[in-house]
Amino acid sequence: MNTDYENSGALPSEDVLFDSWDREHLWHPYTSTIDPLPTYKVTSTHDNRLVLADGRELIDGMSSWWCACHGYNHPALNAAAKEQLDKMSHVMFGGITHQPAIDLGKMLLEMAPPSMHNIFYADSGSVSVEVAMKMAVQAAISRSGSHNKTNFLTIRSGYHGDTWNAMSVCDPVTGMHGAFGPALPVRYFVAQPRSRFGGEWNEADIAPMEQCLKEHHQEIAAVILEPIVQGAGGMWFYHPEYLRRLRNLCDQYGVYLIFDEIATGFWRTGKCFAWEHAGVQPDIMCIGKGLTGGYLTMAAVMTTKDVADTISRGEAGVMMHGPTFMGNPLACAIALASLKLMRGQDMAAVVAKMEAVMRRELAPAARLPQVEDVRVLGSIGVVEVKKPVDVGAFQKRCVEEGVWIRPFGRNVYVMPPYVTPEADLVRLCRTMVILVEELPQ
Ligand code: PMP
Repeated sequence: MNTDYENSGALPSEDVLFDSWDREHLWHPYTSTIDPLPTYKVTSTHDNRLVLADGRELIDGMSSWWCACHGYNHPALNAAAKEQLDKMSHVMFGGITHQPAIDLGKMLLEMAPPSMHNIFYADSGSVSVEVAMKMAVQAAISRSGSHNKTNFLTIRSGYHGDTWNAMSVCDPVTGMHGAFGPALPVRYFVAQPRSRFGGEWNEADIAPMEQCLKEHHQEIAAVILEPIVQGAGGMWFYHPEYLRRLRNLCDQYGVYLIFDEIATGFWRTGKCFAWEHAGVQPDIMCIGKGLTGGYLTMAAVMTTKDVADTISRGEAGVMMHGPTFMGNPLACAIALASLKLMRGQDMAAVVAKMEAVMRRELAPAARLPQVEDVRVLGSIGVVEVKKPVDVGAFQKRCVEEGVWIRPFGRNVYVMPPYVTPEADLVRLCRTMVILVEELPQ
C-alpha cells in the first residue's frame, strides 16, 4: 500500500478514485443526480485514517459525520462485534431481551443525567428524535388531559435529523422547510441565544423563549434543542445560562424539555454529555452517533420515570413505537465495548488536550479577511467564513493536501476521532487555515 502519495510520483487515476456507475446510480446525501459532487472511493480505514482507492491515506477530520470517536478498525470494537456475531446478530425486542441490551442500558444510566430512568433503543438519530417527540406528546396529553398540547417549540439554527418531525424542528431557513413547505407540521421557533459559550450572559437572550411559552404553553408539549452546541444548523456554541433559564421556564409552564445530545454526547464538548456544562437535566434525552463508536446505526432515547409512567397512564397505556431492529444485539455489544473504552481512560483530559491544540492552531485563521469567526469547544474546531464554501472545490484541495474535511454552508470545521495523534491534529488545523486563506474574499 502506498501511504505516501506525495512522494510516489504516481498520479491518481480518475477511474480508480471515482466510480462512474456510482455516479450514475447511487444517491449520496443531499446530492443532485444531474450534477453530483465527486465521491471519493475509500477501500479501507484504520485509526484516524481513510485509505483511498488509489492508495493515498487521508487524515480524517470528520469522524465519519461525528460518530467514529475511537477512529476506525479499533481492535476492541472489532473483537466485540466478532464475538457477538457468533452468538446472535439480531433478535426481535418484542417479548425478548438479551444481555447486550441490559449491560448497555446499565452503563448508559451510569453515565446519563441522574434523572434518567427508562431507555428506548432506536435505529438512528433521526428516529430517536421522532421517538422523543412522540414520548413528549403522549406524556403531555396524559398529564394535561388536553389534546391541544401537542406542538413543539425550538430555537433557530437547530438540526435534529431528516425524518418528518425531526425536519419540522430543524432551522426553517437552513433546514428543509423550503423544500417541503406546507407538508411539514408548523412549529414554534424563537431566536437562538447569541451569548457565546465562555462569554458574557445577555439577559435579553431568554426573552423570546419566555414570551413564546407564556403565550402558547397550552399548545406546547415540549421544547426541543441541542444543548450548548448547535451542530449541523450552524456550529454555534451558546451560553449554559440559557439552559438553566429554559429549565425553569419549562417547569413553570408545564412543558417538557428534550435535549438532543446526538452530536454533543460522549465527550465531544469536553463533558460526557453537554447538559453537564449547565447542570440542568432534561425530561427526555436523545443520544446516537458516537454510541456505537461509529460501527453501526443505533441511538437511544432516555427519559425520567415520571415521563415514562405518565405515558403508561395515558390513553394508549404504552409507548407507541417498536421498530424491527430495536435493541439490535450486535449494535448493543459494540456500543458497550465503546463505552468501556471511554470509561477506561480520562476522556476529559483527552478532549481538553485536543481543544488546546485546536485553539492554538486555528487562532491564526481569525486574522484572515475570509473569516467571520473562529470557535473551539472540546474536540470541535470551527472556522466560520463570510461566504458559502464551494464544497466540491474545497474537498478536492483537502484530498490533495491529505486530509478529509467536509464543510457545509459557511462552516469549515473538524471533529476528529479522539485517537488522532497530535501531529495529525496540527496538520488538520494548519491545512484548514491554508485552505481557508485560498478561498475567494
Ligand atoms: N440530531 C442531531 C443534533 C444531529 O447532529 C443529527 C445528525 N447529524 C441527528 C439528530 C440525526 O441523526 P441521524 O443522522 O443518525 O439520523
